[in-house]
Amino acid sequence: MAEAANFIEQFIDEDLAAGKVSAIQTRFPPEPNGYLHIGHAKSMFVNFGTAEKYNGKCNLFFDDTNPSKEKTEFVDAIRRDITWLGYHWEKEVYASDFFDTIYAYAEQLILDGKAFVCDLSAEEIKATRGTLTEPGTESPYRGRTPEENLRLFREMKEGKYRDGEKCLRAKIDMASPNVNMRDPVIYRILRATHHRTGDKWCIYPMYDYAHPICDYLQGVTHSLCTLEFEDHRPLYDWVGINLGFAPKPRQIEFARLNVTNLVMSKRYLKKLVEDGSVHGWDDPRMPTLAGLRNRGIPAAAIRDFCSRIGVAKANSECEIGYFEAVVREYLNANAPRAMAVVEPLKLTITNYEGSEEVDFEINQLDPAAGTRKVAFGKHLFVERSDFSLDPPPKYFRLKLGGYVRLKNAYIVRCDDVVTDEAGNVTEVLCSYVPTSRSGEDTSGIKAKGVLHWVNADTCVDAEVRKYDHLLKDADYAGQDFSERMNADSEHIFAAKADPALAQAEEGTAFQLMRTGYYKKCTEGGKLVLSEIVSLKDNFNK
Ligand code: ATP
Ligand code: MG
Repeated sequence: MAEAANFIEQFIDEDLAAGKVSAIQTRFPPEPNGYLHIGHAKSMFVNFGTAEKYNGKCNLFFDDTNPSKEKTEFVDAIRRDITWLGYHWEKEVYASDFFDTIYAYAEQLILDGKAFVCDLSAEEIKATRGTLTEPGTESPYRGRTPEENLRLFREMKEGKYRDGEKCLRAKIDMASPNVNMRDPVIYRILRATHHRTGDKWCIYPMYDYAHPICDYLQGVTHSLCTLEFEDHRPLYDWVGINLGFAPKPRQIEFARLNVTNLVMSKRYLKKLVEDGSVHGWDDPRMPTLAGLRNRGIPAAAIRDFCSRIGVAKANSECEIGYFEAVVREYLNANAPRAMAVVEPLKLTITNYEGSEEVDFEINQLDPAAGTRKVAFGKHLFVERSDFSLDPPPKYFRLKLGGYVRLKNAYIVRCDDVVTDEAGNVTEVLCSYVPTSRSGEDTSGIKAKGVLHWVNADTCVDAEVRKYDHLLKDADYAGQDFSERMNADSEHIFAAKADPALAQAEEGTAFQLMRTGYYKKCTEGGKLVLSEIVSLKDNFNK
């Protein structure tokens, strides 16, 4: 057996060595109330990854005990996103598959005197729960006999009571130091149409009660979840012990993934979609898997990121720059290179006539990718920001009287500019050095700056979209995400691009030289280049 890579694997190794389990079964348990986000990718990495390491199995388990928020649309999106990320589930299971059994177990608890029907309202239950330092107060209905409880519980199921009029509570200990053990509610009355069972039920089990049962019924050996469930583990175990589960699944908690500048709560992501702050669940700024996919981020980079940050028992926050660095690594190795000019400025080579083709390496890190031809000519575009009329010292880009190399082509000298009435430069006039062609340069001229360019006669119009983070830096941190919202996170430019970009396959990720990594797509016949990640690595490893 491979060496344990983290504390979860150590626990599993102990259980295997002690003969408590023989084959490993896990589950990935999303609630179908929204789209999966990058935090879920970590949960999948842990659940699917652990099963795979032990030659075990991992189910896709839909935790659908909360009908008012769950939808088939979300079920479909979750299945699609897991598959895209590259994971395969053994069985697809729903908590609702087990509603009959979960109900039968509740009757068993009632008959064993371990659950009672309570008439207190939700507010009254909350008010009598006590605090971390004070015990709670026992419900006046706690002494009902099993027969009376059974009758009332069946009446609850049959729809005799209004929503919230009664509930079923486990009878545990109102003085427990763990608040979750103070006679927790395990069934509530709720009239809501369930996305799978329709109106069959008007009572629904609570998560803490249903989850250990669903784990057991699926044969889960290790129920891996995030740290906020640590305080719920005594209840998880109570359910298993009192229902006589053998072998009882073991719950192990690990730290959530938190990333700076990313909103990672389905509830809040949903709000952004609903109030129109983003274009949808798959907006490229969203940390949802659908958004990351639409952004052009490779699934392999997300899996690799989860693997590299590791599995820990203590919560921490990962820098967004680290995630971006991993993505950049993948794209740098695989993305073809191309040129596009985001804020075009005309450049005319006054002493050049005719046209020719120059060679471009498709990816200098991958010689096997080969080269392609790019048309060069008299009329070009360069970046407006690559020219300065009033350059600071050591300015190596275009300036009057200065030399630069046009990438893979010639050295040019800037001789003059054309300005409009307001004095803005509208065109730069250059002369080229005929002996300076890349690869055969005998000019002896040193040009420190190398600029990317596009050919004005062959280029295509493109829309370039650049993105900032949806959340401002942690320095702005208020507890409320809305205080950290970056209202101006999408920037659109009218650009000029190499025609090869228009011909490329939809969705291809390119490195636009000196600009960044961009995904090519076509919208309404228009070429759109959408930022995946910047070129600069400003993350300090
Ligand atoms: P959210 O808080 O975003 O609404 P959730 O926990 O309610 O997420 P679920 O659908 O219940 O979402 O999550 C499915 C699984 O993914 C759970 O086991 C949960 O612990 C895990 N998970 C959710 N967010 C993260 C995260 N940021 N890091 C690691 N695991 C996560
Ligand atoms: Mg949840």
